[in-house]
Amino acid sequence: MSYVLVINSGSSSIKFQIVDPQAGATDDPMVSGLVEQIGEDNGRLTVKYDGKKVVKQQPIKDHTAGLKLSIDQLERIGMGPTQVDLIAVGHRVVHGGMVFSAPELINDQVVEMIRDLIPLAPLHNPANIDGIDVARELLPNLPHVAVFDTGFFRDLPPAAALYAINAEVAAANQVRRYGFHGTSHEFISQQVPELLGAPANEVNQITLHLGNGASASAIHGGQPIDTTMGLTPLAGLAMGTRCGDIDPGIIFHLARQADMSIDEIDNLLNKQSGVKGLSGVNDFRQLRELIDAGNEDAWLAYNVYIHALRRFIGAYMVALGRVDAISFTAGVGENDTNVRYDALAGLEMYGIEIDEERNQIRSDEPRLISTDNSRVKVFVVPTNEELAIARKAAAFA
Ligand code: ADP
Repeated sequence: MSYVLVINSGSSSIKFQIVDPQAGATDDPMVSGLVEQIGEDNGRLTVKYDGKKVVKQQPIKDHTAGLKLSIDQLERIGMGPTQVDLIAVGHRVVHGGMVFSAPELINDQVVEMIRDLIPLAPLHNPANIDGIDVARELLPNLPHVAVFDTGFFRDLPPAAALYAINAEVAAANQVRRYGFHGTSHEFISQQVPELLGAPANEVNQITLHLGNGASASAIHGGQPIDTTMGLTPLAGLAMGTRCGDIDPGIIFHLARQADMSIDEIDNLLNKQSGVKGLSGVNDFRQLRELIDAGNEDAWLAYNVYIHALRRFIGAYMVALGRVDAISFTAGVGENDTNVRYDALAGLEMYGIEIDEERNQIRSDEPRLISTDNSRVKVFVVPTNEELAIARKAAAFA
């Protein structure tokens, strides 16, 4: 059997999986690992395989040390690059700008092009490049493939992609809507026509990726025509810790009134806002516990989250004209029955009817949660971004 090593390299962490690209969407990867606290004294590597878990605590100096430690550990459990048939390495890259839509075989020139996009993703692209550099050095004989979070949305219609700000300033600074979570929206949306038994180019759908970060997309016959995230992943839906769409004037107001710096506002809107900013917690399981205990802030936070979600669902129904399916995915979308129900409750006149019993069923499989009468079919479709990246990378093997 052949496998792909999938790497998601962040600023202080590296997530990796060894994935069979032929696997089903809900199959477990052969191995998954996480290197945390890179550059700190309390570094940690966790490797999970076969129902087992190995944890190593030690300082991990940098990404090179983190990936080396991971490969050593993989060799130790018999799943190292010399022991399993690895055919490619797939790298998640956050920002592909207007340059990349499709996955790209990595060479020095491609790395430079990803580096040129750093101004658009100053936190993410440098960390992605670190992962690519280290992995190419340690595994020089394998094809390395970059898969871009923005790629699926590269060709959004101009009316959805452009912001109504001064065109010269926008063009000079590459300001436009790029969208993120593209690998997930694409992966989910490709399964829906099969679930409907309809040709992909005839299906209009809304995909809702609701994890810690959250985004919605409107997809017309396989082509995205709008998505909620923008130049950065801060826009759109209210999220775990991110504010989503706000009046941009709030930023000037905070700078002037509260004397906050740009970095402080950036931190506030990205890390101290969203459901957490309103309630103190960003995990929806904790949020539900607080709501059940009568906590009013938690209830308010939940309602703000649902309100934003319904606002975009409404907008995308109009943008698409006819909607065949709405799908929920990611941590919240796959697990939180209340969010799914409340996002779509009371929309019978628009052909949307959630089946309360079907909505309660817990499963790893894609499933229908609307009634048989519902004109718009509502699905839960588990996402698997690593598998999607592995499949794309395997195509270059
Ligand atoms: P990320 O955006 O970090 O990839 P995930 O898609 O894994 O996140 O989603 C993580 C979030 O999913 C958690 O913060 C939590 O809010 C939510 N979540 C996970 N499991 C459940 C559950 N059983 N019920 C409700 N929410 C859940």
